[in-house]
Amino acid sequence: MRSASAPPPTWSAGATYLGGVSTAPLSAITLGDEFARTLPELALPWQAEQVAEPRLLVLNERVAADLGLDSAWLRGPEGTRLLVGNHVPPGAAPVAQAYAGHQFGNYSPRLGDGRALLLGELVHSDGRPRDLHLKGSGRTPFARGGDGFAAVGPMLREYVVSEAMHALGIPTTRSLAVVATGRSVRRETPLPGAVLARVARGHLRVGSFQYASATGDLDLLRRLADHAIDRHHPAAAGAEHRYLELFEAVVAAQAALVARWMLVGFVHGVMNTDNMTISGETIDYGPCAFLDAFDRSTVYSSIDHRGRYAYGNQPAVAEWNLARLAEALLPLFADDQDKAVALAVDALGGFRERYDRTWSAGMRAKLGLPSASTTPLVDELVDDLVALLAENHVDHTSFYRRLGAAARGDTEPARGLVLDIAAIDSWIARWRALRPDADAMDRVNPVYIPRNHLVEEALNAATEGDLGPLGGLLDAVTAPYDERPGRDRYADPAPADFGAAYQTFCGT
Ligand code: AMP
Ligand code: MG
Repeated sequence: MRSASAPPPTWSAGATYLGGVSTAPLSAITLGDEFARTLPELALPWQAEQVAEPRLLVLNERVAADLGLDSAWLRGPEGTRLLVGNHVPPGAAPVAQAYAGHQFGNYSPRLGDGRALLLGELVHSDGRPRDLHLKGSGRTPFARGGDGFAAVGPMLREYVVSEAMHALGIPTTRSLAVVATGRSVRRETPLPGAVLARVARGHLRVGSFQYASATGDLDLLRRLADHAIDRHHPAAAGAEHRYLELFEAVVAAQAALVARWMLVGFVHGVMNTDNMTISGETIDYGPCAFLDAFDRSTVYSSIDHRGRYAYGNQPAVAEWNLARLAEALLPLFADDQDKAVALAVDALGGFRERYDRTWSAGMRAKLGLPSASTTPLVDELVDDLVALLAENHVDHTSFYRRLGAAARGDTEPARGLVLDIAAIDSWIARWRALRPDADAMDRVNPVYIPRNHLVEEALNAATEGDLGPLGGLLDAVTAPYDERPGRDRYADPAPADFGAAYQTFCGT
């Protein structure tokens, strides 16, 4: 581990200049300030901390291109300074966003971006706006006790996991770049610092509404809701009860999102209301991880002692968070409070239905069965499999992928993962009688996910200055369904001595 005074590590990859440095001027980039203009009460103008020696570690050329940003220029000195917020286009107005939030069930009236900044909005090639946002860019007035910084490892974790989620088809913030700052960040040990540049449809959170609601300023709450409709749920704009419609749209988006997490075995780890978006994107990859063995009680976060955010609790927590959103929106639902509460309860009731629908269809797809197969026989088959996987501590990701081979007649790879051979044989026989579609299974069951032991390996190497393992992992997980020779170690379950005690950390 490096000490505070050690020389900066030499990075083995990432800082190479592809195609030369473009001379496109910064003034060619326009960063919008719609959020800051529309909601000044939630936008605190602020500047990123100066970085003496920014060094680009990883750049997402695809994301850059979609935003009309020139990768060659981003790799150059001016572009890299943009990526740490030190060189912003004329007219840009970076802000720290204010929000409140329930953290592990306890309400904090003032959280906000303590170490993050919204640089501004860019237009994506799909014609819709995106936020360009930095994490680790220095203390803001919301920093409380925090130092405002971030370490290389956790920022690369967010980069890898968010890009893997995107490749899995799960709505998420995207990662544009990670830039090393050359600064030493004090954690349990001194660590190299970094700034993550990320991109999102929007950074509004349930906590943004909690904050606006707590001010008692109804005009602010209405403006925030109108902004959310305009930006994220435009179909609500024409509705008779537009704010109720907004709430229903967020409920639907979050129910579908969390169902997708469950299907792929993702554990967010810190589902506080300030980490739940209005857009329905996964956000704030802190103590997150993917399941190895299937177990609903799995918790990775070192501080989640009671398992509030355990894998199996995620749907219930999402519903709880959405109830907090409903509370914040109540004054917009109806003047009469009882009526507003009744409307909110009814709308929140849509969560379970939408969750079940997405999850059931997803499970049928994972098993190669038509999504419309609603017979009790299929429900029973799914329930029996879930119980069997839990009882036998089966590796979640590789089981479903290997089941594709079983659909083709080769049952050995899948049954080899299960201790109770009689149970799995009998289950496979029942399932195969329904004639599962193996090719369809291979399109939805990933071979490669960011497995915890590989993420740790890649982050540890990167922290020591070697970006090679990170590159290999990114190659695998950004094409998760496409099995490629020579990459078995990215597909295999974790080694037996890795797992049960695996922990992830917040506030990194
Ligand atoms: P999280 O749950 O990790 O998204 O963060 C919760 C709150 O803590 C947010 O308000 C963050 O901005 C803030 N925060 C986390 N780490 C730091 C840090 N190192 N410095 C300042 N604020 C931080
Ligand atoms: Mg957060």
